[in-house]
Amino acid sequence: MNERLRALPSVDELLASLNSHARSFPRELLVAEVRRALASARAQMLQGGEMPPLQQEVLARLDHLRSPSLRQVINATGVILHTNLGRAPLPFFEPIEGYSNLEYDLTAGHRGKRDDHLDQLLHSLLGCGAIAVNNNAAAVYLTLHELAAGREVIVSRGELIEIGDGFRIPDIMARSGAILREVGTTNRTRIADYHNAITDRTALIMSVHPSNFHIEGFTGKPDLKELTALGKERGIPVYEDLGSGCLVDLKRHGITEPLVQDSLAAGVDVVSFSTDKLLGGPQAGIVAGREDLVTRIRRNPMFRAFRIDKLMFQVLELTLRHYVMNELDKIPVLRMIALEPEAVRTRALALASQIPGAVVREGESLVGGGSTPAQTLPTWLIAIDSKNVVDAERNLRAGLPAVVARIEDDQLIVDLRTVDPSQEPELLAGLQRALQ
Ligand SMILES: *Cc1c(COP(=O)(O)O)cnc(C)c1O
Repeated sequence: MNERLRALPSVDELLASLNSHARSFPRELLVAEVRRALASARAQMLQGGEMPPLQQEVLARLDHLRSPSLRQVINATGVILHTNLGRAPLPFFEPIEGYSNLEYDLTAGHRGKRDDHLDQLLHSLLGCGAIAVNNNAAAVYLTLHELAAGREVIVSRGELIEIGDGFRIPDIMARSGAILREVGTTNRTRIADYHNAITDRTALIMSVHPSNFHIEGFTGKPDLKELTALGKERGIPVYEDLGSGCLVDLKRHGITEPLVQDSLAAGVDVVSFSTDKLLGGPQAGIVAGREDLVTRIRRNPMFRAFRIDKLMFQVLELTLRHYVMNELDKIPVLRMIALEPEAVRTRALALASQIPGAVVREGESLVGGGSTPAQTLPTWLIAIDSKNVVDAERNLRAGLPAVVARIEDDQLIVDLRTVDPSQEPELLAGLQRALQ
């Protein structure tokens, strides 16, 4: 064994054997990577393994360190809100470099509030007070913590949902200090169930939009108006976790999702929703509703832990302004939803004509991202026959920019609904490379 280990070069020897590319890295980093590679080689050889290619390993790790890990991807899956690909695609924006007036009132020349950047926009969109936090999970937690800690929150058994990644309504409720009071059954809950559960310990009636699943058959629940009437009668605020913050009616595109404005109009006291689902902005969560309640939530000491950063403020402000100015085509999510199948088909035919073995056929795109389950959008797919479809898909992912596509029935499937037309030349080059 010692004989074999003696074949390992010393740190200096390995350093000296590296090419000039490796020497362009900071010296300390280089030495650390050389040491790490030698230690790992020694461990492998003690287990009876061969000596690995040391120079290659050092170079691969150095290159990996230098290249950005988070980068742009071409989403050819047709899933518009793709959880793994950053959910909503960001609208175009130019990041503010350096300083900004994040908490500075430029008119008055003294300290300002970061909330001010969104106040007017949110007010004009929703007609009430609203604040932004890091995501909707934070919004749910803060709302429950502020309005119901130590007291009871009435929720239908049919709405005790899991969003994914361990976010479950009963768990977040427990962490917030609120006490869950379940009513009704999985499939049916009546207004009388809420009525009968109200005691002097009740702090909140909560309604949760079942964003990511769909039940059919013998089902039923009271509509929001009944809930808010009960809340008013008994002096208990009604809070609705809407999940996806849909601000415009998408019915003509075949998508039915509750509108934030409709919930507020139905008299819901507080709503919360994500801004990176159907709203189409960056990751954030909004709490909106009754001025006194929103103000209390804003003053909660935990607010600071969930407040959003200047970069997010910038993108969220810009997204909301597109709504206010009715520039919906500047919001990629809405643009993709509104895309007519015929327009996708025209683009698909043009691209497919340049790829051997490609045909264009009908298919379906998904909204995804834990919203609108069971709702799809008709589209036209490019289906590509390839001798080795698994390799082709992997090559696509390894390209620059990386392309993520689907495999279905041994074919490589590309849906242009989620590809911006400006990305098509890169997509075509990527496909041609990957299929070689
Ligand atoms: C998505 C969702 C959440 C979590 O929102 P994030 O912004 O992902 O934190 C909470 N509640 C519902 C109903 C949702 O759909």
